[in-house]
Amino acid sequence: MKNKGLLLVVSGPAGAGKGTVVKELIKDENIRLSISATTRAPRGTEQDGVEYYFLSREKFEETIAQDGFIEYAKYLENYYGSPKKPVEQWQSEGKDVILEIEVQGCEKVKKSMPDCVSIFIMPPSMEVLEKRLRGRGTESEENILRRLARAGEELPLAKNYDYVVVNGALESCVEDVRTIINAEKLRAERFSFDI
Ligand code: 5GP
Repeated sequence: MKNKGLLLVVSGPAGAGKGTVVKELIKDENIRLSISATTRAPRGTEQDGVEYYFLSREKFEETIAQDGFIEYAKYLENYYGSPKKPVEQWQSEGKDVILEIEVQGCEKVKKSMPDCVSIFIMPPSMEVLEKRLRGRGTESEENILRRLARAGEELPLAKNYDYVVVNGALESCVEDVRTIINAEKLRAERFSFDI
């Protein structure tokens, strides 16, 4: 009897702290994070191949044409997409894979891979969200305001997710997500019974 690796879709507005939550989760070697491709410029100390694969618009569109993404979406005028190959590889090895993506991407994944598990990371309040965004110190005022406006559009979409976890205190948020993962792995339909 063996169970399959999960495909976890983690979304939430910029500043909700999903990156920090995911960093904690991937300390478990059975959980892998998909590195997305994007056409946006690197921010702060970001490095190609670490936080993102930073691609030109031409290269990104070429990859779309080659069916190289599980999903892709536009967010504030830039493309973001999840490369297919590593995700398929990890899943075939039985690893759980996290896609940290925005809401349109999640909708696409739900359609093409309905057994994925979607989790929305919710900030405790808009005030906290704004404070976290400003605290990064890497964004222009214009970008902060655009991200806040986008957050206002994204928050009501939390209801389309399987789970909503509030990220007030990091530890309890991570614990909640681990609880979801553990329970999802025990669902009967995820087991193949070779009896
Ligand atoms: P940021 O520019 O702050 O790194 O990311 C902006 C938004 O794009 C975040 O909500 C992030 O989760 C999302 N994002 C990152 N990678 C992908 C991806 O591969 N696909 C989609 N649809 N969204 C992504």
